[in-house]
Amino acid sequence: MSALMELSYLLAAVFFIVGLKWLSSPATARNGNALASVGMLIAIVVTLFEQRIVSLSGILIGIIIGAAIGATLARTIKMTAMPQMVAVLNGFGGGASVLVASAEFLRLSGEGGAAVDVSFSVQFSILVGAVTFSGSLVAFGKLQELLTGQAVTYPMQKPLNALLLLAILVTAAYLVVGGPDGALAGVFGDLFGTSVVAPLITLVLLSLILGVLTVIPIGGADMPVVISLLNSYSGIAAASTGFVISNNGLIISGALVGASGIILTMIMCKAMNRSLSNVLFGAFGAGGGESAGAEGPQGVGGSVRQVNAEDAAIMLAYAKTAVVVPGYGLAVSQAQHTVRELASLLEDRGVDVKYAIHPVAGRMPGHMNVLLAEADVPYEQLWEMERINPELERTDVALVIGANDVVNPAARHTESSPIYGMPILDVDKAQQVIVLKRSMNPGFAGIDNELFYNQNTSMLFGDAKASLTKLIAEVKEA
Ligand code: NAP
Repeated sequence: MSALMELSYLLAAVFFIVGLKWLSSPATARNGNALASVGMLIAIVVTLFEQRIVSLSGILIGIIIGAAIGATLARTIKMTAMPQMVAVLNGFGGGASVLVASAEFLRLSGEGGAAVDVSFSVQFSILVGAVTFSGSLVAFGKLQELLTGQAVTYPMQKPLNALLLLAILVTAAYLVVGGPDGALAGVFGDLFGTSVVAPLITLVLLSLILGVLTVIPIGGADMPVVISLLNSYSGIAAASTGFVISNNGLIISGALVGASGIILTMIMCKAMNRSLSNVLFGAFGAGGGESAGAEGPQGVGGSVRQVNAEDAAIMLAYAKTAVVVPGYGLAVSQAQHTVRELASLLEDRGVDVKYAIHPVAGRMPGHMNVLLAEADVPYEQLWEMERINPELERTDVALVIGANDVVNPAARHTESSPIYGMPILDVDKAQQVIVLKRSMNPGFAGIDNELFYNQNTSMLFGDAKASLTKLIAEVKEA
């Protein structure tokens, strides 16, 4: 590898790391994304130039076609569909690792065979890359509702998966130690013939099946966590492929993706108060999540207090302090601009408006931040959970928009609740609570919410955007 190439990779690595750092704050995230993209562009162009893999025109055509597809997808994708887009991107990353590692292995086999360490990296890349590819496609299918979102379970599921993994490891070991010419050739007899092609294809196929079987028992609602984990896998596969083709750029970028993906996965699990093994093997959602009805949560009972837009608008217009609590429903109804408009109106009337951001509100990390940033809500109005909770007791009106689980007090005191222990926004402590949602249907966790039955809670039923539009009209009249 030439000095120029190494230096370019070093520069790209610096761009990736600084870009990641910038991604940690909404104020610098856009620049961070742009910087990391430039790093990737440098790494790609230098690699292709240096290795003379394809002609300059080939590189340019590839960049133009790829950039056009990427830009179109990024512009047209709905914010609520972002997790499935990330799933597909991860999957392609894993698939690319499988292709590169396999091609290099076949090339080396034709030249007398790969060294044991290289062959080990190849088989590892194939296993992780193929699991990432097929697992990500299943995750995409679940989120896009092409497949059932429920956790698919069947008897002996875990032992069967373990058996499959064992078959994969044995096949990989056979290839690592030399395939048909190696130490395990006698054990396999004529099963794979005299070439490495058949065991290589077997390894790819078994790994693809493992990817499918490990993701189908996970409920659709847990897919964002799975996608984050698969993102980490795609990085690990890429880093391993970097070892196969001795490419430091790939090793560094793969390691960064692998590490940041697993950190994000752990943050998401912590914010939901679930362990990673509970997400992966707990089959959360196997029984369906639409169990709750209008009768009220177990042991709470009672009826809910409905409010019309006019009365809700009066509560808001004459409040001193209001806290907006956005949740998944805000994203579904795409009401981010409308809520901003309402907040501005209230501020003009002298109401102090803040937004309370729960770390797992919505369906992906930072979902609410991204949504509100799109509507140009100033960052300083976004208050993280730890900071806003002590304020809520002193808040006149909490306006809950399409949020449910993240404001469910059961998480504080009902030990049998699936969300028990999850830190929540203490909305119930506000003087008045107005909840905007369409029905009494539960949210992601599939459980009722006692907040809705509290004395100080008023329900304004309807699509969030429609309700907010009515509120705006009524506040103008107030
Ligand atoms: P949630 O508990 O899923 O509740 C969303 C609520 O929005 C629903 O009760 C729904 O009620 C309402 N809604 C849907 N469409 C609406 C519309 N058009 N207008 C008005 N309301 C609408 O949401 P959340 O409070 O944001 O909690 C997020 C949940 O997702 C947590 O349990 C979290 O653990 C989980 N999760 C989050 C992430 C992440 O990274 N953010 C990842 C995985 C899982 P109606 O149907 O009655 O309208």
